[in-house]
Amino acid sequence: MSRRWLFADQLGPHFLDDRRQPVLLIESKSVFRRRAFHRQKAHLVLSAMRHRAAELGDQARYLRTETYADGLRQVSEPLDVCHPTSRRALDFVRRQGRVTILPARGFVTAMTDFADWADGTRRSSLRLDTFYRFARLRHQVLVEGADPVGGRWSLDQQNRRPAPKQAGRVSVPNPPTPREDDIDAEVRADLDRWEREGIRFVGRDGPRRFPVTRREAQTRLRHFLRHRLSAFGPYEDAMLSTDASMAHSVLSSSFNLGLLDPMEAIRGAEKAYRADGAPLPSVEGFVRQLLGWRDFVWNLYWYFDAGWRDSNALAARRTVPRWWQEIDADAVRAHCLSDALDGVRSRGWVHHIPRLMVLGNYALQRGWRPDELVDWFHRSFVDGYEWVMTANVAGMSQFADLGRMSTKPYASTGAYVDRVSDYCGGCPYDPKVRLGENACPLTAGYWSFLHRNKDRIRDNPRMARPLKQLAQLADVDAVAAQERQRGIDPP
Ligand SMILES: Cc1cc2nc3c(=O)[nH]c(=O)nc-3n(C[C@H](O)[C@H](O)[C@H](O)COP(=O)(O)OP(=O)(O)OC[C@H]3O[C@@H](n4cnc5c(N)ncnc54)[C@H](O)[C@@H]3O)c2cc1C
Ligand code: SF4
Repeated sequence: MSRRWLFADQLGPHFLDDRRQPVLLIESKSVFRRRAFHRQKAHLVLSAMRHRAAELGDQARYLRTETYADGLRQVSEPLDVCHPTSRRALDFVRRQGRVTILPARGFVTAMTDFADWADGTRRSSLRLDTFYRFARLRHQVLVEGADPVGGRWSLDQQNRRPAPKQAGRVSVPNPPTPREDDIDAEVRADLDRWEREGIRFVGRDGPRRFPVTRREAQTRLRHFLRHRLSAFGPYEDAMLSTDASMAHSVLSSSFNLGLLDPMEAIRGAEKAYRADGAPLPSVEGFVRQLLGWRDFVWNLYWYFDAGWRDSNALAARRTVPRWWQEIDADAVRAHCLSDALDGVRSRGWVHHIPRLMVLGNYALQRGWRPDELVDWFHRSFVDGYEWVMTANVAGMSQFADLGRMSTKPYASTGAYVDRVSDYCGGCPYDPKVRLGENACPLTAGYWSFLHRNKDRIRDNPRMARPLKQLAQLADVDAVAAQERQRGIDPP
């Protein structure tokens, strides 16, 4: 039997074929030397690998080396590996010549099925909605025959409730917190030593907040399905300054480390609806995230060409400023942005809407380089990986490909943030104002973005109305000049 080489994001039992299969895990220090990762992300990944090695005992060889190549030189047996999750890792494995590459695991829709679906679809329809229908039918999730349960594929209209501003939080219990152990203490000591040796991290250290073992991840999943899923749908798109996780699952790092198979969560949610009375809009919303979005962005990463990651069709050439790179939330007065950055700094995680509509939106408006943002999101979030960042950052949030996966740029004014959150009340800026002392940087930034890019997005039918509104603004040149002057300074 070949020895199974497990990468750090392949840690669940579904990455092995046999309970006794010999395993190789390589902890490469050069990964952390090359780029400054969030300290808590480094901790999470190393702790998860070392916990997996401890679980496997003699079955696993655990090598701590400078590079993967150094590790491989110490192993002479035949090796196989499940399809790696980045092009760089795949090329490296291929170059070794002696490692058998197996099909990918940890996702639902196989790459070949996705390619068949995409090849048979009009390019302009390579959209989440059409893929999601295909996946629901292909995997028989929440369907009755050829129809969706509840009569509609998306029940989003029934979700979208405003943030419960008065209560200050969604009324659900917090996700269970993992307890640190000796392995975590050892990881923390190693990272302290690496920092003294000159390896740089970003973000703050803190107690470990995310699962590193399958058991911890399963506990969080069960808790979510029982206590939080019902409230997931209504508040999916809302934000609260006093409730970071709201009713989100906070499971992305567990799926991405391979601790959980997405299908077990999807089936668990379906059962919560069919057997335990969980509301269908919440269940459908959660299934759409996992079976839809997660698999869609994974498969697009491989389906599109390697150059997709570096697209920059909006000619966004400004380098990401230092305060953002260093996640200096204290330098920022704009409440929504400061809180989103603080979440990244203190825990390496904020939910979908701060990522897309605050962080991504602000960067898009400023014309920052998409490739630098892909790198920043990848390094700064506990769940960040190359495959997930390319689509979410370059494709969706920065519209750097002019819409290969999205129908329009996710640019919006402060009015959006005001509608879905409680941020604007505690902010020195006013979301309705675009010019002057208290002009909201997102509102002014929105008009300035449209002004700068009007020729590039002119042919997009969904941008016709905003561009018409732009043409009617008498003060647009002044707004654009004001935002140019704001430059790279924190707002
Ligand atoms: C700019 C930007 C950057 C992002 N970066 C990442 C990232 O580095 N890693 C990551 O896993 N997700 C990323 N996402 C997607 C999404 O924001 C996170 O998966 C989600 O916020 C994680 O929190 P959660 O586990 O509570 O998710 P929930 O809201 O509970 O959703 C359930 C699950 O669905 C999956 N999911 C939902 N949306 C997406 C999506 N767009 N892409 C991939 N998976 C999705 C995740 O596995 C998530 O755990 C990003 C989105 C944007 C707009
Ligand atoms: S006023 Fe603008 S900057 Fe302030 S919180 Fe609202 S949207 Fe954010």
